[in-house]
Amino acid sequence: MIHDPVPGLLARATELLEAGFGALPAAPANVDPAAIERVLAETARRLGDNYPYFHPLYAGQMLKPPHPVARAAYALAMTINPNNHARDGGRASSEMEIEAVAQIARMFGWKEFLGHLTSSGTLANLEGLWVAGQLAPGKRIAGSEQAHYTHRRISSVLQLEYCEVPADDRGRMDLDALESELRRGGVGTVVVTLGTTAIGAVDPLPEILVLRRRHGFRIHVDAAYGGYFRLIPESLDAPARDAFAAIGEADSIVVDPHKHGLQPYGCGCVLFRDPAVGRFYKHDSPYTYFTSRQLHLGEISLECSRAGASAVALWATQRLLPLEPGGEFARGLALGRQAAIEFDARLRADSRFQPLAAGRPELDIVTWKLKAATPEHAGRLADSIFDACALRNLHLALVQLPLSWFDPGGGQVNRTGNVTCLRSVLMKPEHREWLDRIWMEFAGACADVGEG
Ligand SMILES: *Cc1c(COP(=O)(O)O)cnc(C)c1O
Repeated sequence: MIHDPVPGLLARATELLEAGFGALPAAPANVDPAAIERVLAETARRLGDNYPYFHPLYAGQMLKPPHPVARAAYALAMTINPNNHARDGGRASSEMEIEAVAQIARMFGWKEFLGHLTSSGTLANLEGLWVAGQLAPGKRIAGSEQAHYTHRRISSVLQLEYCEVPADDRGRMDLDALESELRRGGVGTVVVTLGTTAIGAVDPLPEILVLRRRHGFRIHVDAAYGGYFRLIPESLDAPARDAFAAIGEADSIVVDPHKHGLQPYGCGCVLFRDPAVGRFYKHDSPYTYFTSRQLHLGEISLECSRAGASAVALWATQRLLPLEPGGEFARGLALGRQAAIEFDARLRADSRFQPLAAGRPELDIVTWKLKAATPEHAGRLADSIFDACALRNLHLALVQLPLSWFDPGGGQVNRTGNVTCLRSVLMKPEHREWLDRIWMEFAGACADVGEG
């Protein structure tokens, strides 16, 4: 943030944009720059009350700074402030959304599809499950107990029954449990999470596809967090790699460009394999309408007004960093993944820590328990180390995980219930380079609380 290139780049691009409207009579803005400057100074002071999300030493929650090109393109679009509900509200930005979404669909192997941006992953999942409910009214939605908490709430909004399928000791949907749920009957849709929010677990999609052939249900893939890992199969271990390879077999997919796609908040995306589901959004249009170049995004979206600037930022980012295996964007993802593997390996080599017993992380999220006599003591230690890290400007996160995921069968008297663990989402490309520093501060914090 010290040498931020965005303001200079933005000023030059704004001149170009304004020159395009040069034929208009001058209409100077009636503002008082000195008053604005005072308010902005106050705003900057208020914003200082935040964790430094943009810095590599912020390695806690799922927060990845937008790429400079995304920040600049978003701000540039603010000159126009387009609304992507309809072409009238945002001609260029609607086109840019259609192009950017097609590139995301192509990443999953889809050429024919229906899709659009949303203001969040939650809204995108709502649309996915709304369409699922339209196709199978009254049938149940099933998701793993590690699926995002909003699926239950979305189902309740849609007045569809939601059932929770147990997860195994790696946080993946348990296949036997899913099969018994399917045998009970009435399951219309299974939510398959590729990259859970807590630990980045990847549900076994290939096996769930086999069950779909046998039992017949819809598959909604929630890849809000993990979707882009499709670009780096060579960096993933076998089961996760196979799940991402199979993603194109899903009926609908959600991915959040504002999670791993370097975008400002307000950018989710939902895709449907069958463009004909567009009929649920607009009853009097033939299906061809929805694949035509002339579609109105507002006619295939549950939301009305939506930031055209989000589409502009996404388009510019994908122009600079195309969604290609082996490209710069993919390399950035792989660096975070390497950082996570390395961090996990260091934890495993140290007797003070207990990472997941079943093996190393599936994506770029590392979670670990502190070794202690009781789960309560382990939780208190995690709390103190979390605080001690923050004092050293290293920001981790805390997470509640099932005790049974650690040290299975051994040591623990009480293996039911949850334990507070430490969690680090190593999603910035810089995290690989900063790993030694992160480890040094973490080790220092452990020493600070007497766990040296
Ligand atoms: C973040 C997340 C969501 C919710 O997305 P928002 O953009 O925060 O609304 C849903 N599912 C998964 C797996 C997520 O990680």
